[in-house]
Amino acid sequence: MTTSTTSPSHTRDEELSDLDTKSIIHPHTVIGSPTKPVVFVKGDGARLWDAAGNEYIDGTCGLWQCPVGHGRQELADVAANQMATLEFYSSFGDYSNEPSIRLADKLLDLAPAGIEKVFFTNGGSEGNETAVKLARLAYHHAGQPDRTVILARTGGYHGMGGASLAATGIDRLREGYGPLIPGIEWLSKPHALPLGDDATDVLIAELEQRIAEIGAHRIAAFIGEPILGVGGMVPPPAGYWPRVQEVLRRNDILFIADEIVTAFGRTGEWFASTYYGVEPDMIVTAKGISSGYLPMGAVLIGRRVLDLADGALFLHGFTYNGHPVASAVALANIDIIERENLMARGLEVGRRLLDGLKPLEDLPIVAEVRGVGTLIGIEFATGDTASVQAGAREHGVIVRASGNTIVMSPPLVISESDIDRIVAVVTDQVKAAG
Ligand code: PLP
Repeated sequence: MTTSTTSPSHTRDEELSDLDTKSIIHPHTVIGSPTKPVVFVKGDGARLWDAAGNEYIDGTCGLWQCPVGHGRQELADVAANQMATLEFYSSFGDYSNEPSIRLADKLLDLAPAGIEKVFFTNGGSEGNETAVKLARLAYHHAGQPDRTVILARTGGYHGMGGASLAATGIDRLREGYGPLIPGIEWLSKPHALPLGDDATDVLIAELEQRIAEIGAHRIAAFIGEPILGVGGMVPPPAGYWPRVQEVLRRNDILFIADEIVTAFGRTGEWFASTYYGVEPDMIVTAKGISSGYLPMGAVLIGRRVLDLADGALFLHGFTYNGHPVASAVALANIDIIERENLMARGLEVGRRLLDGLKPLEDLPIVAEVRGVGTLIGIEFATGDTASVQAGAREHGVIVRASGNTIVMSPPLVISESDIDRIVAVVTDQVKAAG
């Protein structure tokens, strides 16, 4: 926290805190034991302010959702105009609206080759539910109803719904919610650090072996994040994705890329699939598509899925799919990323952050400092990452402890001096944790 406070804002902060703890169950908290919240009241670029008057640098972009940064008046104006014109109408069946039509057209322009259609959602989990259902339906419709298995990976995070949680490979997130949906089969976490120099060979051999054991004729799809996010900002070992794609294609297994975190400039490309040179059959997006100004997501669907599912009735959808206001905002958000050349900027600031933090690898408590673009992680070998998150916030820098890794993903608009401040504060906190 960088500034302190006047008594009126103290009063407001206390009032809001009391009301919050009385009324709200927050995600990822203990029921019955609410903690005093940080109540944000304003954002601008990479900066945030709370109700007590404290200022923060947003080193994570909230939950990785805001490439264009906070507080863009332009996006507020677009939302207000659209709301005043047509706030919402359903897009089920043959109803549609102009902003979602234009957004779909834009997404298809930006997507890797082979992507031909868009199915809108309101967020990431819904997108993965959609992709898994569509993969199963496609094979069911194509006369291969036994193809229901979904291959997923340890360390993967795909959301909190039925299929999306079942395909999430992080034990602590699954505990207590069973039985989860059946038909998920597991592959190892694609991380070179524990697997060694021949990690890609090991992982591809495992993939081939699992397919042989399960039977390709029973597998509908493989789902994976190009770079593991919640699992610790883990880029895959060199050459992994093209080889995975080759095995999947050879076995007619659909490839679902969960790009809810990695798309819209995080890797310097619109999609990490492009960065890794692959053409998935479905790409699931959310977050950065609207920079989080409104909930929005999209599943981008490729030719192979469309061919398999051709003629199938897709009885699936959520009330707010293709929301005109969210679509208009997403379109304007993408325009800002293009106009301000933010993908190139993201690469520069991401490099500065990674270079600044890399020396931490010399500390015994740090196993690895890694990242691609603006997706950066500091994995601890031992020690307490939660204390780093708390200590950094005390010093006005927001980073996130995700298991044994400190994860960062600042807005692409962040200044060099704010990057340097994150480096300085996080370095101090990691040293203190050791
Ligand atoms: N997939 C990935 C890779 C994510 O990081 C997330 C959220 O962080 C999700 C899916 C779920 O998205 P949502 O929280 O919008 O449902």
